[in-house]
Amino acid sequence: MVRPRKPRFVEKEPGSTYFKPRGVPAGSLEEVMLSVEELETVRLVDREGLNQEEAAVRMEVSRATLQRMLAGARAKIADALVSGKALGIGGGDYVESGHSSARRFRCVSCGSSWDEPFGTGIRACETSCRECGAETVVREGGPMAGGRGRRSRRQQGRDTM
Ligand SMILES: [Zn+2]
Repeated sequence: MVRPRKPRFVEKEPGSTYFKPRGVPAGSLEEVMLSVEELETVRLVDREGLNQEEAAVRMEVSRATLQRMLAGARAKIADALVSGKALGIGGGDYVESGHSSARRFRCVSCGSSWDEPFGTGIRACETSCRECGAETVVREGGPMAGGRGRRSRRQQGRDTM
């Protein structure tokens, strides 16, 4: 079953991508592969101290997906450490958001744009423009560009104002 998956947002790609037990030749090592978005769940929850709800918002995934990825990541890391396997990080299905504190929202109607912080739970398709109030907000560079195409009631009423 192949279906396109929604990308998961990762703030930045990891620096180090391969860890191995010292003194063991790479050829005789078993290897565990962690995807970049799995590592991101561990970074957000176990290192930054976010709860799973907050981490899910940051990565724009459901809480169930976050929970599943985090459990998988912890199991792989534990396996590598306990069994003395190499741990590689790479691949996966993610989009690098490039900045840590905000997303760029833009209004299609009036062209204004602003930064919306992560962690607020606000999605572009559910918010209205700060300038003109139209519900035609898209996330700049994000997968939700285009939103749901809702018509704005306030926008329709603007001529009479
Ligand atoms: Zn606007």
